[in-house]
Amino acid sequence: MTLPFQNTYSQLPAEFFEKTPPIPVSSPSLIAVNDDLARELSIDPAFLRSEEGLAILSGNTIPDGAEPLAMAYSGHQFGGFSPVLGDGRAILLGEVAGKDFQLKGAGRTPFSRRGDGRSALGPVLREYLVSEAMHALGVPTTRALAAVESGEQVLREEPEPGGILTRIASSHLRIGTAQFFAAHQDHENLRVLVDYAKKRHYPDLTDALDLLRKVIEKQAHLVAKWMGVGFIHGVMNTDNMSLSGETIDYGPCAFMDRFDPAQKFSYIDQQGRYAYQNQPYIAQWNLSRLAEALLPLFDDNQEKAVELAQNELAKFPEIYEPARLKIFSHKIGLPENSDWELIQSLLDLMAEQKADFTLTFRALAQGEEAFLANFSNPQPLRGWLTHWQSAGDANLSLMKSTNPAFIPRNHRIESVIEAGKKGDFAPFHELHQILQQPYEEQAGFEHFQETPRPEEIVCATFCGT
Ligand code: AMP
Ligand code: MG
Repeated sequence: MTLPFQNTYSQLPAEFFEKTPPIPVSSPSLIAVNDDLARELSIDPAFLRSEEGLAILSGNTIPDGAEPLAMAYSGHQFGGFSPVLGDGRAILLGEVAGKDFQLKGAGRTPFSRRGDGRSALGPVLREYLVSEAMHALGVPTTRALAAVESGEQVLREEPEPGGILTRIASSHLRIGTAQFFAAHQDHENLRVLVDYAKKRHYPDLTDALDLLRKVIEKQAHLVAKWMGVGFIHGVMNTDNMSLSGETIDYGPCAFMDRFDPAQKFSYIDQQGRYAYQNQPYIAQWNLSRLAEALLPLFDDNQEKAVELAQNELAKFPEIYEPARLKIFSHKIGLPENSDWELIQSLLDLMAEQKADFTLTFRALAQGEEAFLANFSNPQPLRGWLTHWQSAGDANLSLMKSTNPAFIPRNHRIESVIEAGKKGDFAPFHELHQILQQPYEEQAGFEHFQETPRPEEIVCATFCGT
């Protein structure tokens, strides 16, 4: 079998990328192939599992029809602008079934700077598990097609086994891609980018302002979904925010256990810039950077262009807030435009008592006793339950389909990674399997729902770069 590659990106002007091949590894072995996703892409999973498939997934063979490249982009990282970032450890082989087929951790590229272009095994397993869990939860995301162990060590804090992830994305166009051309005052390629983004994602749109409007809408809905499942992205730099509205880049991300609106996990995010409660504001800030980059395409008159952009940016809260209200209303089983005060007062009590975000919402459909068991001091919750009950008949099946039982909890991921580093991938496959049906009770796996014991709590996550 050959993979049916298209290469629309590599046909863009030369400024968009650097052609660069993956760098072979010594003795790769397969950890996982995503059979369902392979079939969606019309790829035979058995082919990916073959020797020829492994050679492709590890970067040891360039498949027929692929034109490997590293994408160019800029980005605001923690608020500071880096004009040249680009794929330093990811190589795009081309598109299959209209989706980007990318090897992450496939060796140095012209954008690697001081990095080794490699990924440690831990972040590969984390991204595979979390991105696939997000998909099963119904959150737009890049996907994981395969994970490979490279057979080589990478040097991080200490030597660690290396890995390569095959990532599938609607595209890897980011806010940072537009910033790259804006930083070079390259309006011609900015226009090419807008046309390309429209063609790939939004064929009905007409102009650059339309594109901004659409990306605002997509990201407002995306962040509302993150908030609804307690997801903290952790590194919402503009190079990690996709124009397609998919979640991308699972470096230091984490799901919350105990509810704390100021929760952050990323070790490098000391200030909490990317904490849970800041995510909608940061998304809006990032979108302002996109608007800035596209400004010359909105109108020749700069003042007019700024005004047009501001009008669009002002709509973010008008999209985000109802989207969040709908999600949280459904989480408590009520119609989509319920009273936010009712929801906020529950969140306040959960924060005060450090209740587990996932278990608390899940238990609400299981009766008073199950719900109150999540609180050390249940008394104030009784009053809340009365208010909730008087707000209408809760739709229990809606609650069940909005409040997951299973999320990729940090302590579970950590123990999967620990086992993986010792060559045991059974825990990885088990956790992956459970996360495929996050809204279903799964007999025998109840312990995977549990919040970590004090000694299991993971306080910090790392980019793994
Ligand atoms: P991230 O924070 O993971 O989105 O990465 C930010 C930038 O650093 C991107 O340009 C990456 O390509 C680059 N980068 C991260 N890790 C490595 C690595 N191990 N080698 C080379 N470049 C890297
Ligand atoms: Mg990135």
